[in-house]
Amino acid sequence: MNCLICGNPFYSAPTWRKLFLYEVDASTCNRCYSKFQKADTAVDFLDFKGTIYEEAVDSVTALYAYNEAMKSYLHQYKFLQDVALATVFATDLSQLFENKEGIVVPIPMHLEKLQIRTFAQVDELLNSASIPFKHLLVKTATSEQGKKSKKERLKATPLFEVIGKVEEKTYILFDDIYTTGTTIHHAAKVLKDAGAKKVEAITLIKG
Ligand SMILES: [Zn+2]
Repeated sequence: MNCLICGNPFYSAPTWRKLFLYEVDASTCNRCYSKFQKADTAVDFLDFKGTIYEEAVDSVTALYAYNEAMKSYLHQYKFLQDVALATVFATDLSQLFENKEGIVVPIPMHLEKLQIRTFAQVDELLNSASIPFKHLLVKTATSEQGKKSKKERLKATPLFEVIGKVEEKTYILFDDIYTTGTTIHHAAKVLKDAGAKKVEAITLIKG
C-alpha cells in the first residue's frame, strides 16, 4: 500500500498482533512514522494551582511532541481535512487505551467550527482505533484563546456544558493536543461538578 503521508509504496508485514488482535494496518511508511517523536516531558498543572480548576484533572498522558512532522500532519489532517490521516496513530491509540479503564469522552468542537471543518477530527482519531466513546460535553463558547491572557482564560465562563448523565466513575477526556491545558481543565471541571469520581486525559500531542 501507499504511505498516507509521503505517498510512496511500502510493505506492511503481517504481525501476530494484526492477526489475532485485529490491529489496523500501518498507514505510513517507517521513514515518515519515525519522524514523530514521543512526548518526553510530563504535564504539570502549576498554572491551575490555587484556581477553581485545581484538582479537576487527575492525570494527563500525551503521546507525541509537537515537532515539525507533527505540525505538518496536523495541518494536513485538520485544515486540509484529509480524514484518511486519522488512521496514522490508530495502533498507538488502541494500545494506550487498552490499559485504561474509564468512559472515554472526546473534547467536542464548537458547532460553527464543525461546519467549517466538516468532520470531527478528535472523534475520528478514536473511531479509527475502534475506541468506543460517549459525547457528554458540548462546547458553549468559542474561546479565541490566543487573544486572551492566561488569567483571562482561566476566569472565562465555562467552555463546556454536560449533556447526559455523569456517574461516579472514571472518565477519560480525549483531545488532539494539550497546549495551555485550559480546554482539558474546563472539561474536567464540569464533569467533576456533575459527579465524576476521577477525570484523566489523553491527548495525541503535547503542544
Ligand atoms: Zn511515508
